[in-house]
Amino acid sequence: MKPSKKSKLTFQAPKGMSDILPKDQIWWERILEVGREVSSLYDFSLIETPLLESAGLFEASLGESSDVVEKQMFVFESKGGQRLALRPEATVSICRAYLEHHLGYYAHPLKVFYYGPMFRYEQPQAGRWRQFHQWGFEILADNHSVYDAQIILAIHRFFNLLKIKDINFRINTIGCRVCRPNYRKKLLEYYRPLKKELCEDCQRRLENNPFRLLDCKNENCRALRSSAPVILNHLCQNCNNHLQEVLGFIEDNNLPYVSDPYLVRGLDYYNRTVFEMEVPELKTTLAAGGRYDYLMEVIGGQNLSGVGGAIGIERIIEVMKQQEINPDVKTRPRAFFIAVGNQAEKSGLVSVENMRRAGIVVSESLGKKSLKAQLKAANKKKASLVLILGQKEVFEETIIIRDMASGVQETVLLSKLIEEVKKRLH
Ligand SMILES: [Zn+2]
Ligand SMILES: [Zn+2]
Repeated sequence: MKPSKKSKLTFQAPKGMSDILPKDQIWWERILEVGREVSSLYDFSLIETPLLESAGLFEASLGESSDVVEKQMFVFESKGGQRLALRPEATVSICRAYLEHHLGYYAHPLKVFYYGPMFRYEQPQAGRWRQFHQWGFEILADNHSVYDAQIILAIHRFFNLLKIKDINFRINTIGCRVCRPNYRKKLLEYYRPLKKELCEDCQRRLENNPFRLLDCKNENCRALRSSAPVILNHLCQNCNNHLQEVLGFIEDNNLPYVSDPYLVRGLDYYNRTVFEMEVPELKTTLAAGGRYDYLMEVIGGQNLSGVGGAIGIERIIEVMKQQEINPDVKTRPRAFFIAVGNQAEKSGLVSVENMRRAGIVVSESLGKKSLKAQLKAANKKKASLVLILGQKEVFEETIIIRDMASGVQETVLLSKLIEEVKKRLH
């Protein structure tokens, strides 16, 4: 039945989610290539967790008052009545997997990397999507400051290999169970009398999570912040030592950084080190992370430390385009096979399949009839060799090989095709 205009269904990708088309894969391939290279250099192993988890896992760990839990999670009930959530981030899932599979048994500390889609229900805008991709590194079950530094160095190497310039790297500590409550008290003492001057969000957050007030982009809140107490003056000895060690490692490795006493993260599970990386071209964060020594305890495990960071892949691509960085993926040289006439068409696929079995990358558009149309397709594919099988060649059991760079054309025996192509393809 022909679809009438009335009954025609049109579908689009869900709001804030996009297709990654073949033409864009060159960017993704380059990033995955660099990610794998860095992971291998820094000795991180791949871990993959499901896109869905129990909603409670995130609610328990990210914090009830975090934006993610308050309004950004995709939560639904499964047919079996289980409340599930599309993962808004991966660290919590990885900790869940660590505990579930006793991964401490295999390596200590455990160094893992991940990549894949994350989901947050927020208003799509520049740099924000409802489905976005992250590449991340985590080092689990060790609280030594050397691992905070390794996470930061690995992310820097990632940007460096991609040739991303002008990275603004900010770092801070947000203390621990010992010193944080005291600083929290100081913040409350400072902000409570100013409550009426704060933005709506901050008024709401004040009692639950006063640290978030330091993060507010509102101009008024920013102005009030300038006289707010600074955590660096309220750290316990251990947190202070830890921070000094992390900064020492970073300086020893010649990484420029900015110590930002107002830097906090939106999720509850962080403690001590927090960091963010930005570039001037992008108004949002390119990479961020920190330490989370209480996370595993919160989701039901022992007291096991962790530190990690994640990179926004879509944002990297945007920056690369803005900084005019060519993804520069090495594509394998390819041959393009052209068949003209019935006989050639019939035997064409056998020749193509034989070459593919011999490891030669062959493109074709065997569905097309004319030589002209097939040559046009060969040009589009940027093939370095074009192989032409016509009626005459089928009869003589030969084939024409044309080198596209030099324009030189030769006729060779069909039985020698693989050998001849391999000799010329580089
Ligand atoms: Zn402390
Ligand atoms: Zn505010």
